[in-house]
Amino acid sequence: MKIAVLKESAAGERRVSATPETVKKFVGLGAEVAVEAGAGLTASIDDAAYAAAGASVGTRAEALAGAGIVLGVQGPSPDSLGGAAPGAWIVAGLNPFGERGRVDAYAAAGFEALAMEFMPRITRAQSMDILSSQSNLSGYKAVLDAAAEYGRAFPMMMTAAGTVSAAKCFVMGVGVAGLQAIATARRLGAQVSATDVRSATKEQIQSLGAKPIFVENVAGIEGEGAGGYATEMSEEYQKAQAELVSAHIAKQDIVITTALIPGRPAPRLISDAQIATMRAGSVIVDLAVEQGGNVEGAVAGEVVERHGVKIVGHKNVPSRLAADSSALFARNLFNFLSAFWDKEKGAPVLDEEIGDAIRLTQGGKVVNPRLLG
Ligand code: NAD
Repeated sequence: MKIAVLKESAAGERRVSATPETVKKFVGLGAEVAVEAGAGLTASIDDAAYAAAGASVGTRAEALAGAGIVLGVQGPSPDSLGGAAPGAWIVAGLNPFGERGRVDAYAAAGFEALAMEFMPRITRAQSMDILSSQSNLSGYKAVLDAAAEYGRAFPMMMTAAGTVSAAKCFVMGVGVAGLQAIATARRLGAQVSATDVRSATKEQIQSLGAKPIFVENVAGIEGEGAGGYATEMSEEYQKAQAELVSAHIAKQDIVITTALIPGRPAPRLISDAQIATMRAGSVIVDLAVEQGGNVEGAVAGEVVERHGVKIVGHKNVPSRLAADSSALFARNLFNFLSAFWDKEKGAPVLDEEIGDAIRLTQGGKVVNPRLLG
């Protein structure tokens, strides 16, 4: 089986889908790995390192020629895959809801597209979960981005010239990114509070030494829903949440929002009127900005200022830590393919539970139930 590792073509994408470590492991499985020249440069990996790990390095056409598996961080353009084997697997973060046209084009071209973000959240697939590995780094980086924009210090400091008070940081949405944001803000010395619609997160917030801020009078999501994800909340809940946030946010210096609902626009959590109550110089980081944004006025790819408050809307936050995010992403891909590697066939063979969940296209058709509605 030949595996092609492509240079990412999306604007601003610095990650790469394989590292010398994973190349070596694929070669160990008996696969042939071909890397497009320069694929790792933006993640601090040069071509020589891939070659030393056992890959061939060449043009895109050389990498693709006869490849049965094409790896990517984001989905490659379907018309840039000439030379790949008929029915080749495209394994990447394919953004199936946002890039539906591209999914159709994979089908039309006869590729089998496998969306890594549809990996079921079951124990045996944890090591294959790109959403977790990338969100973790996003949560960390969001706090650093906030600290860089904030004109004050995070920790309390007692100096001969007087005391600097600790920053107050509020994390909204306590999934993987939110938990890491809490931990990072705590490490930097901030006073941290956090909220979520899932009541299961209350204990997690407390265990990280932060204060839970929860809507108490209206039912949230008890236990873990399907796959542990949130759903859209009732109007009553949204109203109660808005009141709670209004009271709390005026006292915060830093707000990190991470709230997402799979397949839906991100819930709006902070209004312009609420921003106006915050102290000048405060910073909000909206990690959901590319999914529609949790914060009114946030602009994808920009840092904007409203009422003296900076709203940070960086796109593709994991890519801002490209070396680490690539290392984890590449391991997710290797863990996935190696778990299903059939030694006799010299190729992976998927089981139903995972195959049916992540397969978007097969035999010229879109086959995933989440896309067929
Ligand atoms: P996510 O990125 O989909 O959403 C981020 C957070 O926003 C979630 O905690 C969600 O509850 C919250 N949210 C949604 N709407 C909100 C609102 N209106 N107000 C406040 N918060 C809101 O979440 P995620 O990081 O992907 O994690 C989702 C769940 O999956 C968690 O329970 C996590 O522990 C679980 N998980 C399981 C596995 C596994 O078992 N393999 C791996 C990773 C995550």
